[in-house]
Amino acid sequence: MKKIIVANWKCNPVTRSEAEELFDSVSKGVKDMEVETVICPPFVFLGLGSGILGAQDSFYEEKGAYTGEVSVTMLKELGCQYVIVGHSERRKYFNETDELVNKKIKAILGAGLTPIVCIGETEEERENNKTEEILEKEIKDGLEGVNLSKIIIAYEPIWAIGTGNACDVEEAQRMREVIQKMTSKEIRILYGGSANASNAKGYLDAGFDGLLVGGASLKASEFIKIVEQGI
Ligand code: PEP
Repeated sequence: MKKIIVANWKCNPVTRSEAEELFDSVSKGVKDMEVETVICPPFVFLGLGSGILGAQDSFYEEKGAYTGEVSVTMLKELGCQYVIVGHSERRKYFNETDELVNKKIKAILGAGLTPIVCIGETEEERENNKTEEILEKEIKDGLEGVNLSKIIIAYEPIWAIGTGNACDVEEAQRMREVIQKMTSKEIRILYGGSANASNAKGYLDAGFDGLLVGGASLKASEFIKIVEQGI
């Protein structure tokens, strides 16, 4: 199966022309590579680029009086195939709970799209040996009643996101096995947390099905080098 490399642009770039340029450079660079390369720009830039698209979030209702929300049907209409859900930044800044994540996953699957479900522990939780407990809770509550064969999980230790302090490959691999045991053998699991062109290969060789890349996805040349590691 092809590796999946997902670019999470977060709230970047700021202008339409920058977004178009980044889309253009990345899609040209990865065009002939046997890797599933998914670009997740901010909602407003979704219509600008070609290639495989993902959204960074979505709402669980299809339509109605929900000011500011974007539904899965709208995302599908724009060509999205994937939706990131439960990213730690959404959990932290927007108080997203496992129950909300669960509703979103069900809506995404209901529309025939693939959710990329983010789970992971904080530094404090890790220091207190709570990592497995946290993962178990996020899996139990977030994935309750969900068809596991249709989702992707991204293991993203929160302390590694955007810090330059990537998780040691062996430790990430250990967590990958823990997640696999808690879910299913078939489930695809990505690593995320300060992945870059120098460390990407380690996670992919260790058995991860791909990577979720934040900061390093904003520079086309760096991101293309990461995708190359997935061939
Ligand atoms: C992310 O946003 O999911 C992420 C992993 O970010 P970064 O690669 O910047 O750590």
